[in-house]
Amino acid sequence: MITRFAPSPTGHLHKGHAFSALTAYENTRQKGGKFLLRIEDIDFNRCKSTHSRQILEDLDWLGIEWEEPVRVQSEHIDQYSRAATELLERGLLYPCFCTRKDIQREIEAAGQAPHGSEGPLYPGTCKRLPSGERARRTELGESYALRLDLDKAMAEIDSSITWNDTLQGPQEARPEILGDIVLVRKDIRTSYHLASVFDDGLQQVTDIVRGVDLFDSTHIHCVLQRLLGLPIPTYHHHRLLTDENGNRLAKRDRSITLKSLRDAGITAKQLKKELGFAV
Ligand code: GLU
Repeated sequence: MITRFAPSPTGHLHKGHAFSALTAYENTRQKGGKFLLRIEDIDFNRCKSTHSRQILEDLDWLGIEWEEPVRVQSEHIDQYSRAATELLERGLLYPCFCTRKDIQREIEAAGQAPHGSEGPLYPGTCKRLPSGERARRTELGESYALRLDLDKAMAEIDSSITWNDTLQGPQEARPEILGDIVLVRKDIRTSYHLASVFDDGLQQVTDIVRGVDLFDSTHIHCVLQRLLGLPIPTYHHHRLLTDENGNRLAKRDRSITLKSLRDAGITAKQLKKELGFAV
């Protein structure tokens, strides 16, 4: 068994992250597996190395031990790019020149757009572009993202995909709830979906423990796993911690960061107990 904790260093870790990391860690330890730490810092606009260093400190404080070396995604953008190029050459991706505004305008003009779990689905503007037009705009140097052509992807897979969640049971993949997602962003030449799935495969992760907010992403992740010839891991999407008003804990809420708890004299043992872990 191999699992991982894969935070994005966009801020300080809070109690919710501690709960996620400890759930993965304790579960792995009980089963004698390996626990990996991966820094998902592809978004250079939002991620900071100071946050990455703080993450290591916070996890160490929690008593978590991880395998070395830590994989840092920003050091491997070329690997994700190569995976995307392979999918592009197989005709499974298409360039999308749309800005957010273009997409919004198109959706408004259409009157009613199909909605997925994360809002309106991409209306397919660039999917319908004639190839000459695509080539012309690319040659002009217009920037573009690469989107997954879900119809072609599903035609290539040619069978239903199932995955298992340890809490919610067997699931049939419903990638249509996310539609033609961006796999290569305009600005960073990869995306969370691609980099994360690629690394889980490369690192031979067998059990993915993460918050239930990522449950829907799994429907598309297993499509990517099939396209890239990777095994589909077992998933454990755990509940999300909330504050006293029932709101999800957020990185911007400074009061519940692990660092602030530590600075206030709370011990890791106290926190683990509060979160329901044996101490
Ligand atoms: N990097 C993601 C986050 O911090 C988690 C990715 C995952 O566990 O798949 O939300």
